[in-house]
Amino acid sequence: MDERVKGIVLRARDYKESDKILTLLTFEKGKISVKARGARKAKSKLKAFCQPFCFADFELVDSKIMPILSGANAIDMYFDLVVDYDKYALSSSVLEICDKICVEGQDYSSLLLTSIKCINEIAYTTTSPKLLIAKFIIEVLKEEGVIFSFNSCCNTCGKELLDADTFINLSSGEIVCGNCKLLYNEKLNRPEIEIIKTLLSNDFSALSEFNFPDKEIGDTLEILNKNLSYRCDIKINSLDKKKIK
Ligand SMILES: [Zn+2]
Repeated sequence: MDERVKGIVLRARDYKESDKILTLLTFEKGKISVKARGARKAKSKLKAFCQPFCFADFELVDSKIMPILSGANAIDMYFDLVVDYDKYALSSSVLEICDKICVEGQDYSSLLLTSIKCINEIAYTTTSPKLLIAKFIIEVLKEEGVIFSFNSCCNTCGKELLDADTFINLSSGEIVCGNCKLLYNEKLNRPEIEIIKTLLSNDFSALSEFNFPDKEIGDTLEILNKNLSYRCDIKINSLDKKKIK
């Protein structure tokens, strides 16, 4: 039976002599694997669609082990990303995060929409890609149930948070005071607090209005990445220290 799904290629790997196996994140079926037969042959009409970042309507044919890709209509191939190394390297982390946190059989349409928004802003605007990835991680953590509140200590003490005494519990993502910080915590400095608050109250497209120093954005991204790693028990290779500093 033929079926159409709209989604993005998170990952593509070679299979057998000339096939590819694609990992897709789709609106209709969440995360799925599909086989693209003969996609590595020079004349294959599927070849162009078997690349990470390809956002398309995919036509699938049911098969015993996994669906088979029979055709696709591109919505955006993000060629602008591929030619800019920094943008490409950082936006790869969006795909890697989705691949690592999503499991098959669950609905991720809201995460997919957030991913597309983030990738669009990185590809087509001059907004700092690091700032956009930091915003993406905050959105992922919110979906994981993290509530970022800077009003008062999120632990039971409820103390008012002062800039000099604000920590993030990396395993829970909660913002807490110095008395309530646990073993895995990171001190938040004033610039990082400012950036996180800005990311919480602005959508991706509004972030072009802000001009934070690159070093401060990098520090914030590093903390949020640690938070994501502890909270979800994953390591994002495309966000290792060298790449975000
Ligand atoms: Zn406290």
